[in-house]
Amino acid sequence: MLYDAADIDVAVIGAGHAGCEAGLACARLNKKTIIFTMSVDTIAMMPCNPNIGGTSKGHLVREIDALGGEMGKNIDKAYIQSKMLNQAKGPAVHSLRAQADKIKYTNEMTQVIQNTPNLLVKQQEVTQILVENNKVVGIKTNTGAVYNAKAVIIAAGTYIKSRVLIGECIEHIGPNGLKSANTISLEELGIEIRRFKTGTPARVDGRTVNIDEMEPQYGDENITPFSFSNTKEDISRKQIKCYLTYTNELTHQIIRDNLDRSPMYSGVIEGIGPRYCPSIEDKVVRFADKERHQVFIEPEGEQTQEMYVQGMSSSLPEEVQIKMLRSIKGLSNVELVRTGYAIEYDCINPIQLTHSLELKNISGLFSAGQINGSSGYEEAAAQGLIAGINAALKIDNKEPLIIDRSEGYIGVLIDDLVTKGTKEPYRMLTSRAEYRLLLRQDNADMRLTKKGYDIGLVSESAYNAFVQKKKSIETEIKRLQKVYLGTSETVQNILLQKNSTPLKSGISLFELLKRPELEYNDFNEVNDKRPELTPEIIEQIQIELKYEGYIKRQLIQVEQFKKLEKKLIPTDLDYNDVYSLRLEAKQKLEQLRPISIGQASRISGVSPADVSMLLIYLEQLKRGKNNVRNRG
Ligand SMILES: Cc1cc2nc3c(=O)[nH]c(=O)nc-3n(C[C@H](O)[C@H](O)[C@H](O)COP(=O)(O)OP(=O)(O)OC[C@H]3O[C@@H](n4cnc5c(N)ncnc54)[C@H](O)[C@@H]3O)c2cc1C
Repeated sequence: MLYDAADIDVAVIGAGHAGCEAGLACARLNKKTIIFTMSVDTIAMMPCNPNIGGTSKGHLVREIDALGGEMGKNIDKAYIQSKMLNQAKGPAVHSLRAQADKIKYTNEMTQVIQNTPNLLVKQQEVTQILVENNKVVGIKTNTGAVYNAKAVIIAAGTYIKSRVLIGECIEHIGPNGLKSANTISLEELGIEIRRFKTGTPARVDGRTVNIDEMEPQYGDENITPFSFSNTKEDISRKQIKCYLTYTNELTHQIIRDNLDRSPMYSGVIEGIGPRYCPSIEDKVVRFADKERHQVFIEPEGEQTQEMYVQGMSSSLPEEVQIKMLRSIKGLSNVELVRTGYAIEYDCINPIQLTHSLELKNISGLFSAGQINGSSGYEEAAAQGLIAGINAALKIDNKEPLIIDRSEGYIGVLIDDLVTKGTKEPYRMLTSRAEYRLLLRQDNADMRLTKKGYDIGLVSESAYNAFVQKKKSIETEIKRLQKVYLGTSETVQNILLQKNSTPLKSGISLFELLKRPELEYNDFNEVNDKRPELTPEIIEQIQIELKYEGYIKRQLIQVEQFKKLEKKLIPTDLDYNDVYSLRLEAKQKLEQLRPISIGQASRISGVSPADVSMLLIYLEQLKRGKNNVRNRG
């Protein structure tokens, strides 16, 4: 028997990484919001790797934080090891990665959610999304409750019609043995569905791991917080170690001997898996020439003996998983706590979404996270934040917040999904971001904090701190342009110590610091009028100086990019009217209906020649000449 449970502003389906950010954003923007989940004990659960960040994913987390999201603050509370990756490379690929205490991560996020005004979380399965005249009006749950809502956000992750596969064992369940969502139907709303899959390795009992036979992996001494609102002093704590070992020929042989029992290779699995998170079966088959593969043993937390076996994701039968793990150095007596598995699930084709993550054909229905075909906690959280913000802005009849490809990895992520779509679980990579020198993890606040403040998610105090930081950077860069150093003995000695070419004549400190081997603090002796600056600000100044040329060049490219993004295409344009547009291009443009020439140029199957035809047609439309049509 159904009953009218409540009138709310936003219903969020899911309390995963996407749902948490979406729900918090809506509530913090004063929307009466309820997050629905299959289990309130698994808020922000990490069903896979116990870490946040990594190459390009660390950038996403810092952008979420700069916009006023929660993930950065949460991992700063729950990390057990922190590392800045790729420090030997350029700043564009420096990326933060932190090992998380999974239980603490969930507890901290639960605390935040259960103490946020306007926000409730309920353990109820959403069985139907209610739509009238292509407009969302609410949801129905398995307990017979009907919630009338002005907006609904689908953040259902890997649960919809999910099934778990371990060798011949197949169950229609969700991750970690949780219930799957088998009733809700997105197809009945006319939404195109895909079948994707992902996998996870076994968890082993740490007491049965011989770490003495492995290489310890340490965190950084000098750590960097994910959140711009934290200093390293705020979050510094004793870090745990991870351990490195390797597979070997015996491991590979055990896997080869049992490939026919792997659902991936026996064809039982229908879903498409992530190329960049391959299972160990995949690695042994695809990289058959490799003698060994890295295996990282990562503690899942301080209050558990469970250890994550990074690099050994598998859906082979349990007995085979035990054999293959025990063939690895340091794991010869290992006991499984949880068996590795593959999970297949329904997700949507993201080209059905606008850049605000709203369904094109259903007003007020938004979608975020793994359900959009992405993979990863960070990718999910970024989409959740944007969907939450835009659901709230829509209810207030305000323009949506769109981050474009030149402003953030979030912009690259969403534009790739809604413009190019994805044939497999989409994972963020630095190579996907054409303006990555501008989109560094260290300057995410410079790019996005003002946007977060303008929409009301970044607090006054956080914004003032940001304005102060920005001013300090700009002021000091200007000052360095006026600080002239001569060829004094002191200066020459500094250069000598740094193996840097001695000066023949005077130079500004601004110009001198462009030399890669020189650091700002090297000149403290002669740069005595310098202000008190934090290491973060000095890092910013150095990057701006050393990469000034590259940055300028990329800014010119961004100008070109923005020009094409501003060339809007009428939403009702009939592509059949555009003379000599190739058939494939007409079909793709008709299907995707890009909002700008810029977006049209990124659709696969639309050539530069097609884009020129479109530009000519739009120009003629603007001049009111329609002779193109007649010539057709
Ligand atoms: C086995 C496994 C392995 C993975 N491996 C990797 C990997 O190797 N690399 C990687 O980057 N990512 C991996 N992931 C993905 C990563 O976990 C997800 O990207 C991330 O958790 C997605 O977050 P989300 O918020 O979109 O969804 P989830 O974290 O899946 O959360 C979904 C939420 O929706 C709720 N829900 C679903 N349907 C309903 C309903 N009808 N009613 C009410 N509540 C509902 C659930 O209870 C849950 O709270 C893996 C995930 C799994 C399960």
